[in-house]
Amino acid sequence: MRNVHTRRLGVHRLIMLVTMATGASAAVAGPIADAYRSQADRIIDAALTSDDAYTKLQHLCDDIGHRICGSEALDRAIEWASAELRKDGMSNVHTEPVEVIRWVRGNESCEMVAPRRQPLVMLALGKSVGTPPDGITAPVVVVADEDELEKLGDGAKGKIVLFNNPMPPYDSEKGSGYGHTVRFRTNGARLAAEKGAVACLVRSVTAHSLRTPHTGTMNYKDAPVQIPAAAVTVEDAETIDRMTKRGIEVVLNIKMDAKNHGPAMSANVVGELRGSTHPEQIVVIGGHIDSWDVGQGAHDDGGGCIMALASVKLLKDLGLQPKRTIRVVLWTGEEIGLFGGKQYAKDHADELANHVAAMESDSGAFAPKGYGVDCKDESRMKAAADQLRDIMTLMEKIGATDVSEGHGAPDVSPLQPEGVIVMGHEVEGSKYFDYHHTPADTMDKVNPLELKQNVAMMATMAYILADMPQRLGEKD
Ligand SMILES: [Zn+2]
Repeated sequence: MRNVHTRRLGVHRLIMLVTMATGASAAVAGPIADAYRSQADRIIDAALTSDDAYTKLQHLCDDIGHRICGSEALDRAIEWASAELRKDGMSNVHTEPVEVIRWVRGNESCEMVAPRRQPLVMLALGKSVGTPPDGITAPVVVVADEDELEKLGDGAKGKIVLFNNPMPPYDSEKGSGYGHTVRFRTNGARLAAEKGAVACLVRSVTAHSLRTPHTGTMNYKDAPVQIPAAAVTVEDAETIDRMTKRGIEVVLNIKMDAKNHGPAMSANVVGELRGSTHPEQIVVIGGHIDSWDVGQGAHDDGGGCIMALASVKLLKDLGLQPKRTIRVVLWTGEEIGLFGGKQYAKDHADELANHVAAMESDSGAFAPKGYGVDCKDESRMKAAADQLRDIMTLMEKIGATDVSEGHGAPDVSPLQPEGVIVMGHEVEGSKYFDYHHTPADTMDKVNPLELKQNVAMMATMAYILADMPQRLGEKD
């Protein structure tokens, strides 16, 4: 074995020198990649020729549809995913109860009633209250941010406040501009209510729009009064902004049936590919099974769930049983409050020391790029990142080589303060926020080849993390 290993290392060093000389990517394969090259090749080849993930995603999107918290569709999705795990031969398949909240959108509309009549495209924000049956009719004041709202003084009283703050375009270095503007969606209603506004609209949080409204969650926190909150499209926000800047009073009528129905029960889905020699040690992979109540939740986060389901089936079919357990977790209630992620951390507090890594894919199912890694112990994070870089050299053929430090993914984030190494499955990010939380997040936006590549990356990574001699983040 040793001889084989040394020889492989030798060949690889030679390839390294050649790639460095030609100026190509200088990712360095280390001992883990060398030990797992043949298994990784088998996994990747099998993933790239399997339609399993696409077939599963098609069922979730087309036959079940969107899956908002507290809905029958979400219950059906949870039942279906559990049945798939059983059918695919997984062990310990069960659901774990999670208390969530049920918020129902109902009918809604937004119309410009002066200076001319025109229907606008609008989506209420998750957890918003509704309007009276006749709606709220009031003039609009447009502000770009908190400072402009403050400068209005009493000027927002009795008005509809529209936050028109553009999300910066995607940047290949810095990523999406989502973090810059999502706060108006989250906090806008509270800020506007503090100034006496009667409703709050936000420009949809996206850098690219075909007049598509983007919903998402909001929070009243300690708002003096709960006012209705909704998103309008970039195009409609810009129209209103241009008109009001010319001194024209724009009056809107907003009607929303939205209602908070209080607590409801849902569940996380769990199933395992049990480890052969250290079954108590766990590598978690998964996504969130709930979605918004528009579109099909194809990229957010049907794709992430399906990658995990398809990964364990693929390994099982290949007869690749790792030494540690790979546990699929499909978390519930992420969109409306990270309920499933928080509950998982509580339910499994006793075994978190045995969680070798916990990864989630919640960035869409676009072309895979690599992994983000985070751990509260920085030296373990650095050690883990070095091992992940070694492993990612096996995935050059699918174009995925990135490892970035200091970030994971939403549903595994409650495990990070407990010392677990958390990981985010990362994909090409330029289009995600075009579809995110919209009626356009549908199956046709998922490229079948890219979905296969994602399964290849997740299955390979999960297998190696669950099988390699040393525990992730530790030297030996
Ligand atoms: Zn998501």
